[in-house]
Amino acid sequence: MIEVKGLKKSFGKQHILRGITTTIQKGEKVVVIGPSGSGKSTFLRCLNRLEKPTSGSIIFEGEDLTRASEKRLYEIREKMGMVFQHFHLFPHLSIMKNLTLAPVKLGLMSQEEANKSARAMLKKVGLSDKAEAFPNQLSGGQKQRIAIARALVMNPDVMLFDEPTSALDPEMVGEVLNLMKQLADEGMTMVVVTHEMGFAREVASRVIFIDEGVIAEENDPYNFFNNPQNPRLRQFLSKVL
Ligand code: ADP
Ligand code: MG
Repeated sequence: MIEVKGLKKSFGKQHILRGITTTIQKGEKVVVIGPSGSGKSTFLRCLNRLEKPTSGSIIFEGEDLTRASEKRLYEIREKMGMVFQHFHLFPHLSIMKNLTLAPVKLGLMSQEEANKSARAMLKKVGLSDKAEAFPNQLSGGQKQRIAIARALVMNPDVMLFDEPTSALDPEMVGEVLNLMKQLADEGMTMVVVTHEMGFAREVASRVIFIDEGVIAEENDPYNFFNNPQNPRLRQFLSKVL
């Protein structure tokens, strides 16, 4: 589904991604871990072309995103749902409007179709009763479940999560991880940057350790956690486990 070849990204003289090569198959759940500042968010943002790679290629469903036009990128991003640490909901809009704004504005659905899809997704995330609420009336965990629902309304082929539980109070982490597990079980292709090692062990088909802008190690979760090879991964795991 996504083929990343020799991906590099620099900001000025700072070389953040220094050559990332990996392939994400349909239905895979890839968990990305690594130290703060190692380039995890930059990697995700390159995948859906919120950032323009300095060099290398990203082939998504057969199409090279490094060559796609701006117009085409908008269409492609509809297929890649993104969930951020800080929810990014519109505070002045009801939950229903938050969920339906993008598909209606982009001309993908009529308001009625979008409402129907939004109601289905609210049901999926267990928040049907919040359709007319505003974001500030929801808990952090509820806001993040709404952000996930909003991405799902677009019927994406892959979901990208950037530390979706890092901004949550501890008692709300579980409800968001459970929803993500549910999506994983339903076969969604997922790339998840997280510090939740339990989630990685339980849900990942593959775990990637990004360190200083390269993939320093990748493996199935059992071997990744029980038999890490890279010394910096060992050091990292000794701090987080
Ligand atoms: P991580 O998500 O692993 O913590 P990031 O990908 O957010 O790391 O950031 C990696 C490095 O890139 C950091 O040093 C950060 O300051 C830098 N960086 C990220 N985005 C930008 C940007 N838009 N302009 C300049 N530097 C950036
Ligand atoms: Mg980050």
